Amino acid sequence: MRYISTRGAAPILGFEETLLTGLARDGGLYVPESWPTFTSEEVRALAGLPYSELAARVMLPFLGGAIDPDEFRRLVDDAYKGFNHAAVTPLVQLDHDLWLMELFHGPTLAFKDVALQLLGRLFDLLLARRDQRVTVVGATSGDTGSAAIEACRDRSHLDIFMLHPLDRTSAIQRRQMTTVMADNVYNIAVQGTFDDCQDMVKAMFGDAGFRDRLRLSAVNSINWARIMAQIVYYVGAAVALGAPDRAVAFTVPTGNFGNIYAAYGARAMGIPIDRLVVGSNSNDILTRFFRSGVMATAPVTPTLSPSMDIQISSNFERLLFDLHQRDSGALADGMRRFRASGSYSVAPNQLETAGALFAAYRADDDQTRAIIADVWRQSGQLVDPHTAVGLHAARAARSEHAVAETVPMVALACAHPAKFPEAVAAATGVHPALPDRLADLLARPERLTVLPNSLDAVQAYILRHARLGEAKPRGSV
Ligand SMILES: *Cc1c(COP(=O)(O)O)cnc(C)c1O
Repeated sequence: MRYISTRGAAPILGFEETLLTGLARDGGLYVPESWPTFTSEEVRALAGLPYSELAARVMLPFLGGAIDPDEFRRLVDDAYKGFNHAAVTPLVQLDHDLWLMELFHGPTLAFKDVALQLLGRLFDLLLARRDQRVTVVGATSGDTGSAAIEACRDRSHLDIFMLHPLDRTSAIQRRQMTTVMADNVYNIAVQGTFDDCQDMVKAMFGDAGFRDRLRLSAVNSINWARIMAQIVYYVGAAVALGAPDRAVAFTVPTGNFGNIYAAYGARAMGIPIDRLVVGSNSNDILTRFFRSGVMATAPVTPTLSPSMDIQISSNFERLLFDLHQRDSGALADGMRRFRASGSYSVAPNQLETAGALFAAYRADDDQTRAIIADVWRQSGQLVDPHTAVGLHAARAARSEHAVAETVPMVALACAHPAKFPEAVAAATGVHPALPDRLADLLARPERLTVLPNSLDAVQAYILRHARLGEAKPRGSV
């Protein structure tokens, strides 16, 4: 199993190197040189399996022997045994032709846990083999930092430093990070904005001496292994609803295009998928692309669904690569022009190819609130604003006949409603409760360090505390 860069000028790598490298050296993203495929019989045999066995069967072909199958099965088991639902990603029926796939039963109540719980363990295993450590550094506005922290906590070959802007995250978001009492987890509250935090992380990666000494790493959304881990639940849902004999459609609330690209991957592996529906909030660069064939950046507007408030969908490059018939030269040229001009166009035939599989719809905040209220009235189900953006798109796709009546639709529920309680309560009058195991979150002790908005101060702190830095932290040897 080999992985190639979308831009064609980085080394071809095996699974282990692809995982540890993340972004390709030429600025591109790694994709499999060719997709492993299942026969109909193999797909049929996946029906009824426990999640961890399904996950092992779907992912093993991507490892190309890099990890012993039994060892990988143990790792997968361990990654998902902490989920709050035995089915890990259960389906809930909302209507005769509509299902929700709940991806929020992991430790931080959002879908990123499904990939990151596995990714942290994969990193740790492969680093242990090499007797190496890395220092993970990230910045968060609050909604995604906790998933990275939960992925890295207690991993013996990783330390994680997460920067967030002091007093600018919700109490729940902050506490999901600061109540993690693990020796290798450091929460830094910066006296500044999220942009200040992000700029500091960029500066640290740009400081070669610092970067190399601490072996800086990120667990960002372009890592191939995250895509791989997300393919599993698409396969599982499709098989539960009739694959290989009946095709299904998926609607995915989309930001960086990582989640929905995994559905594209499931299809490439032989799962019958009739249509993939993109749900955007007001930051609708993708919806505009699928209408016009032009990807043009616009300023980011804050919405009720902050995890989708993005300007550029980094994983979209993986789809563009295929739309260019995997011509990495043409893609690299296009991406250079996109960087320079903020705009990228594809040819009419490429747009037609994309439109045959994808449909895209946007929901503004008013429409998002209306869906949350409507779903609550009709089915007694509370959904978070991201999920609501998807459900809006799913309805639009049905009414515009982008999805046939006979095709079951699975809409992805990407966050637990209690993760965004204000929006849910405003739309329904009901305050969503945290799951039992997090019920005491607001009473747990917190640990964080407040630092001035100064790169020097943050770097000095990291050097002092990282195991690869100057001194040893908290009594570890
Ligand atoms: C990250 C996230 C998304 C967007 O997923 P992408 O893979 O970036 O498209 C949507 N909803 C929630 C709740 C998220 O955390």
